[in-house]
Amino acid sequence: MRIRAAVLHEPRRPLVVEEVDIAPPREDEVLVRVAAAGVCHSDVRLADGELGEGRSPMVMGHEGAGVVEAVGSAVSHVVPGDHVGFCIVPACRTCEECAAGRFHLCVPAGEYGPRGTLMDGTSRLSLPDGTPLQHALMTACFAEFTVIAAAGAVPLPRELPLWHASLLGCGVVTAFGAVRNVAQVRSDESAVVVGCGGVGLQVVAALRIAGAAPIVAVDLDPAKLELARARGATDVVESGSATTAARVVKLTGRGADHAFEVVGHPDTMRLAWDCIRPGGSAVVVGLAPRGVEVSLPAIEFLSDKGIRGSYYGSGDAGADIPRLAALALAGELDLGGVVTSVDSLEAVNEALDRLREGAGVRTVLAIDRPLAGLA
Ligand SMILES: [Zn+2]
Ligand SMILES: [Zn+2]
Repeated sequence: MRIRAAVLHEPRRPLVVEEVDIAPPREDEVLVRVAAAGVCHSDVRLADGELGEGRSPMVMGHEGAGVVEAVGSAVSHVVPGDHVGFCIVPACRTCEECAAGRFHLCVPAGEYGPRGTLMDGTSRLSLPDGTPLQHALMTACFAEFTVIAAAGAVPLPRELPLWHASLLGCGVVTAFGAVRNVAQVRSDESAVVVGCGGVGLQVVAALRIAGAAPIVAVDLDPAKLELARARGATDVVESGSATTAARVVKLTGRGADHAFEVVGHPDTMRLAWDCIRPGGSAVVVGLAPRGVEVSLPAIEFLSDKGIRGSYYGSGDAGADIPRLAALALAGELDLGGVVTSVDSLEAVNEALDRLREGAGVRTVLAIDRPLAGLA
């Protein structure tokens, strides 16, 4: 089948929206008609070659939702017509990490994802001249259709508009998992969120739902701080000066119990560290370019401070995504509110440019407007 898709031919060059060929789903795969896709900061890192070489040519896009069009012979959990969100780690459920419950670290998913293939190590995508194309993070959803591993198709309730659902599978599951699975924030614990973009705002929402207080939002951009307030931040601090950490420490008493870094920069990782109290912990959610290092004052390990990483919510995303959809339907989680632009697939480069400039929060690409639930 020939479809339109956004292709990265070379890092640091604009994507080209063009016709590509897509092969039918194999036994344990699903063909999905893509309704909507979110544009995430990781797309910029990938497109700018910051995650390493050899990541092109590739059909981009890793956050989205759509409707099942066809399923392979071994697939039983979804049928054509079902609404699904995409999960970028389609855990095999048999490897040693999956057996230990660390589904986000699934060994084959971790091996094939960065290679740009599906779970059997091959691609279903090619240019019309036969050149194979990589699948971005097993998802490749900046496209009219995509073939994904069966476990990457997570069934969602039809009542949830697909343009809202499109945000669940990367930004939202990453943010909520950092709060619930990694930091395990409890009510009345204090927290600071450094970076209030698409993911950071959902970290704020997850903290509000966890009952954290106070919740201090930190960003350079006053407009993003207002969005953070609307999502439950009790205090906001405009960053960019030498006093940022001291102001957060003052607002939280002796420093926050928890800090979340949602930028992916060594300075903001250090800032998150400086905002926590003795015995507090910082979680790095932001994705830094390959090769970047971070430095910390080593003497402070003596005060029992901790810092740790997280990946994709560090839990069972396939199980967490439907729970988050239920929260959204219950009115607890505002998905549409973080969307600052809705664009066509053709406007993908403008959306990436806005992220490079820090303008706006989330762009949703409405690949099939009526299917996405947009007028
Ligand atoms: Zn993402
Ligand atoms: Zn596994």
